[in-house]
Amino acid sequence: MTGVVLVGDAWKNPLIYGHWKQEFAATMPDLKIIDLSGMVLREVRERVGSLPPGSAILTSAMYSDGEGTHYLPAAALARVAERANRPIIITSDTFLGRTGVGGFLLLPETIGQEAGQLAMRILGGESPSSIPPVAGDNVKPIFDWRQLKLWDVDEAHLPPGSEVRFREPSFWEQYYWRVMISVGALLVQTTMIAILLRERRLRFLAEIEARQRMSELAHMNRLATAGEMSATIAHELSQPLAAILINAETAEQVLQTPAPDLGVIKDILGDIRRDDMRANEIVVQVRSFLKKARTERRELELNATVGEVFRFLSVQALTYDVALATDRSPSDIRVTADKGQLQQAILNLVMNAIEAVTDLPEDRRRIVGRTSLANNQAMISIADAGDGIRTEKITEIFKPFFTTKTQGMGIGLSITRTIIEAHGGRIWAENVPTGGAVFHISLPLAVARS
Ligand code: ADP
Repeated sequence: MTGVVLVGDAWKNPLIYGHWKQEFAATMPDLKIIDLSGMVLREVRERVGSLPPGSAILTSAMYSDGEGTHYLPAAALARVAERANRPIIITSDTFLGRTGVGGFLLLPETIGQEAGQLAMRILGGESPSSIPPVAGDNVKPIFDWRQLKLWDVDEAHLPPGSEVRFREPSFWEQYYWRVMISVGALLVQTTMIAILLRERRLRFLAEIEARQRMSELAHMNRLATAGEMSATIAHELSQPLAAILINAETAEQVLQTPAPDLGVIKDILGDIRRDDMRANEIVVQVRSFLKKARTERRELELNATVGEVFRFLSVQALTYDVALATDRSPSDIRVTADKGQLQQAILNLVMNAIEAVTDLPEDRRRIVGRTSLANNQAMISIADAGDGIRTEKITEIFKPFFTTKTQGMGIGLSITRTIIEAHGGRIWAENVPTGGAVFHISLPLAVARS
């Protein structure tokens, strides 16, 4: 601080404040003193608005404006403070909390208490002359925290033993527990969300993996069934076919002789016919074997059964970028069937449909599986938007070994038909006018049990 500005009409009171000015001059000769103590309040207000930096106002009590109006000292000081551009050092704690930054404050409350105690002693009969004078502990360095902040005063620079009042707890001090509890709750919540998300993701991945496995299994099962059948058929057919070949070659040789024996040729043709019938019998046998295969027939609901196959193949569809949809009958459809076989049959149709549309533009890569009730029969239809089936082949496709695919075995539809017919149903194909093939399966409804 480089200057002190004296304000107050009581500076004239030599008993309390009068000697301060001289003491400043004696102990702090460099301190610049601006003495406004004699001025009227109006002038003081004007002057305190443009005080030099580094100065502070030191006040004593003011009781009037010096022009005829009387004030309470606190109100007079407030009027000075309104204009002051420097902090105000006060002298009594009655001004603290209003405008003053603080200072060595007189504590009127303590003074009053001490005076009261003395009065009580006198009233109690003690002679006033026997009571020694006491200095009393009634001046203390006390400051207003808000004013310190306002004037940017560092607390470290306050006199030792200073008391700072009106300290506002910082946001952190004020809300410490609430903040801690909120942060804790947030952390717990975030952790829980993270755990749940992770779990969901793991479950999702597991589901995808399971479906992929099931889909692979279904595919393998399909290939295995087809492979098994064709191996059996090939094995069984090889004998009659070899016999037919030998007989045909023999007939050729006989015919090349100058005078072919037609009797021998007739016998050979008879053998060929016999072997051919044997071969045919074998095919019939294999099919009937499939028909008689141990089945577990139960009453099942068709919407759910078809839905399962479609869900089952969803990964396959995703792989080939084909849209699978179902259009299920609003009412339950009950049939009696071997669920595994029936699903195998539907699966074959959907797999064929997927193969029929994979190379086509996106708007044609869609397959719809429908279930309905018609003429007291359960109906399933699998429709695609592929190129359809050549009309003359519409029944032939169900025959064993009929295929138009380079890698095809021509077995799927024949197995499907065998399964459906074994269940007392029918399967047929047709082309849709808008393009694509649709395969229909009709099955008898389960006999309603009373
Ligand atoms: P593969 O699929 O091994 O050829 P399938 O018995 O399942 O054996 O099918 C026989 C033939 O029927 C196929 O090669 C194909 O020509 C025809 N086919 C089956 N499904 C469809 C379909 N959805 N669209 C067009 N043709 C089909």
